[in-house]
Amino acid sequence: MERTIFTEEHHMFRDAFRHFVEKEIVPYNDQWEKDGIVSRELWLKAGEQGFLGLNVPEAYGGAGVDDFGYSAIIAEETIRVYATSAGAGIGLHNDIVLPYFLAFANEEQKRRWLPGMCRGELITAIAMTEPNTGSDLAAVSTTAIREGDSYILNGQKTFITNGILSDVVIVVAKTDLAMRHKGISLLVVERGMEGFKRGRKLEKMGLKAQDTAELYFEDVVVPASNLLGEEGQGFYYLMRQLAKERLNVGISAVAACETALEITLEYCKERTAFGKPIGSFQNSRFKLAEMKTETEIARVFVDRCIEDLNAGKLTAETAAMAKWWTSELQKRVVDQCVQLHGGYGYMLEYPIARLYLDARVQSIYAGTNEIMKEIIGRSMGV
Ligand SMILES: Cc1cc2nc3c(=O)[nH]c(=O)nc-3n(C[C@H](O)[C@H](O)[C@H](O)COP(=O)(O)OP(=O)(O)OC[C@H]3O[C@@H](n4cnc5c(N)ncnc54)[C@H](O)[C@@H]3O)c2cc1C
Repeated sequence: MERTIFTEEHHMFRDAFRHFVEKEIVPYNDQWEKDGIVSRELWLKAGEQGFLGLNVPEAYGGAGVDDFGYSAIIAEETIRVYATSAGAGIGLHNDIVLPYFLAFANEEQKRRWLPGMCRGELITAIAMTEPNTGSDLAAVSTTAIREGDSYILNGQKTFITNGILSDVVIVVAKTDLAMRHKGISLLVVERGMEGFKRGRKLEKMGLKAQDTAELYFEDVVVPASNLLGEEGQGFYYLMRQLAKERLNVGISAVAACETALEITLEYCKERTAFGKPIGSFQNSRFKLAEMKTETEIARVFVDRCIEDLNAGKLTAETAAMAKWWTSELQKRVVDQCVQLHGGYGYMLEYPIARLYLDARVQSIYAGTNEIMKEIIGRSMGV
C-alpha cells in the first residue's frame, strides 16, 4: 500500500539523509560494531548537516520542523543499512531526550544547551533505570537532596543508551524520599561535574555499536538551575513523553521487518536446493507471504500513529499497542528470515544475523511489552 504520510519535502530529506548514511555511516559501521561505540565525528557531521534537533526551533539552532515523519525517515534509513545502533543513538537524542528540553526547560536552559545539542557537540542521554529497578520507575533509589542552591546527587544507573558519549544526561532522581511518584524530579547532569563517573560499557548480544553503559553519581553537586521543570513533577513528565519513545520502537520494528524481508526475498530467489530456488518451495512462499502481509498491516498502523502524534492525538495506550505488537512481529519476522537463510543466517557476516541480534531488545526497552499490556489493560478499565 502506498504510504500517505510523506510530502515532497520528506522525500527530499530522505534522499539527503540516505546520502549522508552512505557517506558517513556505512564505511565505518563495522568498525563501530567492533569498538562498541560510534565516533564523536558522526555526531558532529550529523549536526553540521542538519540531522540533529529537527524539532528544535530555529532560534535555538534547530530545523524547527515538528513532524515525526522526519524521525521515521532517520530510523528507516539507518536500519536499511543495518546501522541500527547509530540510528538508535541519534533517535534517542532527537526524539526522546530533546523533547524534554523543549517541553520543560526554561528559556535560560534552552539557550544554554539546545544549540550545542543541535550541533552534535552535546550528546544526550536519559537515565531512568537502576540496577534494582526498571519497570517500577517510581521505586528509583537515586537521591537528589536540596542543599542551598544545589542538589546533592547520589546513586547508580544502568543500561543507559549513549552512556559513554553523553555530555548532558537527564537523571531521574528522588527529591522527596517520603513520596513515590510525586517525589521524582529530573536533573540535568553535565560531563565533568565532580563525582559523575562512567561505569562499564556493557557487552550486549546486539546493538553492538551502541555505548550502553552504567553511570555513577557520588555526591555530585548539581546546581538547582539544572532542575528540569518543577520539583516533584518528574514522573508526570516522563509519562507525557514516553509515548514518543514507544512509537519510535514501533517505527524501527517495522523498518527492520521490511529490511529483513527484502534481503530474505532476494536470498530465496538466488539460493537453490533440489535444483530450484528455495523461494519456490511452498513453505518459503507462504512464510514470505505471511511476513509481507503482517509487515504491511503494521506499517499502516504505525504510519497512522505518526499522523496522530503530529496532530497531538497519540494516546499512551495506542503507542503501547504499536510498541508491543510491532516488536513481537519483528522478532517473529527476523527469526523466520534467519530460518530461510539456512546456516548462512547464523553467520554474522550475513546482515540477517545482525538484524536478528538487534531485534531482541525491542520487547524489553522503552518499557517492557508486559508493561505495555498493563497500560492498554488499565485504559480499558480492568
Ligand atoms: C540496550 C538497552 C538500552 C536501554 N536504554 C536505556 C536508557 O537509555 N535509559 C534508561 O533509563 N533505561 C534504558 N534501558 C533499560 C530498559 O528500559 C529496562 O531494561 C526495562 O525498562 C526493563 O527494566 P528491568 O531491566 O529492570 O526489568 P524488570 O523491571 O526487572 O522486569 C523483569 C521482568 O519482569 C516483568 N515485569 C516487571 N513488572 C511487571 C508487571 N507489573 N507486570 C508484569 N510483568 C512485569 C518485565 O516485563 C520483565 O519481563 C535500556 C535497556 C537496554 C537493554
